[in-house]
Amino acid sequence: MSLLVRLILGVVGLIAVAALLASNLLQRGFGASYAQIERDAAQHEMQRLVSALEIEARSLSQLLLGWAHWSELYAYVGTRDAAFRRDNLSPATLAPSDLDWVLVIGANGELLDAVAAVRPAQGLPDLARLKAPGDPLFAALRGPLAADAQHCGVAVLAGVQYLACRMPIRDTTVMQPPRGMVVLGRRFDARMIQRVRKESQLDFALAPASNGPSADEVAGAPIASPVFGHASPLIRTLPDTLELRLNISDLNAKPFGALVLHVPREISALGRSSLHKAQLELLALAMLIGVLLIFAVDRILVYRLRRLTADIDRIRTEKNWSLRVDEQRHDEIGRLAAHTNALLGVIDAQVQDLEKRATTDSLTGLANRRAFSERLEQAIRRQQRSGAALALIMLDIDAFKAFNDRYGHAAGDRALEQVGTILQSAGARVGDLSARLGGEEFAILVENTSPEGALTLAQHVRLAIEALGIAHKTAPHGRLTVSIGLAVLQHGESGETLYQRADAALYRAKEEGRNRVAVAREGMPVLMEAGGRSVSV
Ligand code: GH3
Ligand code: MG
Ligand code: MG
Repeated sequence: MSLLVRLILGVVGLIAVAALLASNLLQRGFGASYAQIERDAAQHEMQRLVSALEIEARSLSQLLLGWAHWSELYAYVGTRDAAFRRDNLSPATLAPSDLDWVLVIGANGELLDAVAAVRPAQGLPDLARLKAPGDPLFAALRGPLAADAQHCGVAVLAGVQYLACRMPIRDTTVMQPPRGMVVLGRRFDARMIQRVRKESQLDFALAPASNGPSADEVAGAPIASPVFGHASPLIRTLPDTLELRLNISDLNAKPFGALVLHVPREISALGRSSLHKAQLELLALAMLIGVLLIFAVDRILVYRLRRLTADIDRIRTEKNWSLRVDEQRHDEIGRLAAHTNALLGVIDAQVQDLEKRATTDSLTGLANRRAFSERLEQAIRRQQRSGAALALIMLDIDAFKAFNDRYGHAAGDRALEQVGTILQSAGARVGDLSARLGGEEFAILVENTSPEGALTLAQHVRLAIEALGIAHKTAPHGRLTVSIGLAVLQHGESGETLYQRADAALYRAKEEGRNRVAVAREGMPVLMEAGGRSVSV
């Protein structure tokens, strides 16, 4: 797997894990706070509902406060005047105030009047039963006799719920103890609920009182209401709404029922959508960072490593050890490139050394037979293209075996070195090559020269070696000499036949007495005219 692929996989994996973690944290953080905000808001709505219902109760007590006949009523409790009763406490008088019943209670707690509004469709509350001694409902409606204050609450009469308010009967002009109380009742029915719903815009209902919080409910903050008592709403989270149940008490502070309110979970929906938005933005940001990271690492690392690999690959395939990789910057990769270059330097030096060893004769420093053969082939190809002259001069030391025998092998080596030096300078011209073919045999390859020039060179070498004056007592001439065979390349001739002809010429030079140059006849027009198969000079 390439570095870039691994890098991409690594970064993508890292981003996926990070995004998952971040999104989880967000979800937990957001989720918890949204749920809390939602519950707080719902609690606030319940408070609002209780306040809206209290306004209903207050409208009842307002009705009492605004009543213009308190002095007459005060007097009526004493006189029980029939005219007053007819004008103020008849069913007809209740209708405009939307009241369902009115009770007038004496100072001793006795029921003086119980007036029900005429509502044919709804039936009348059974007020008659209130007169029964010790009726608990009546006790509840009446409250403690000593209480001297206005009070409102819920009451159930003959199975029907009412909102009731009681008020002490006073003479407003004289500050006397109250002469009893008047109690007003208004149905806590669908109409009232509808009205409160409309005004408060809260979707609520009345239900039987519920017990403590169940497993899926949490208790909200307590709500205190003078009308409905003290209780904490129980909050249950449903998919789309929060359901709040608030137990309310009746006039007698006994559990009466529960207000059930459904609050849409708008905050949660809003929270979810902003959470999704935040998650998407987070993901986009993470991806952007990832792409930038991959790009940066690619530029800093992968791209440069690839270039380095490409450079090394090119050098390896071309086998050109003199090339170097681009060192780029002074960092770890730069150092790797520098080390690679140092290694290439070592390889280059060793390859050059090996090449030199493979093509050089170690004793004389001249080219060896291998280098000579390669060079001969190249020269022939060149000659075929350009038509320039090419001559091969072959040398063999005369009676060298005898020299070794007489002067020793070491002296023989020294003599070989000296001959090598002469050949070195003889073949120093550009394009020429002097080589030791093996033993005491040498050759000079002469390019771009005339046959005469080649012959002159051969003679020059022969004389120069003789002039070294290396004593060789057992040799015919008393000194170390060489025999030379010379051949000039003919048109279309191969290196092999050129070699054979030069070798044959050398053989002849030996035959004819050594220390001389024998020239192969072919390609030597001037010398041919002298006659014979070959000429020795
Ligand atoms: P000719 O005149 O016919 O060439 O006689 P020659 O003795 O030179 O010829 P031969 O081929 O019989 O002997 C060549 C000798 O060269 C044999 C060997 O001892 C000697 N020789 C070959 N290589 C070396 C070398 O590297 N060092 C020394 N010292 N002698 C060598
Ligand atoms: Mg020989
Ligand atoms: Mg020899």
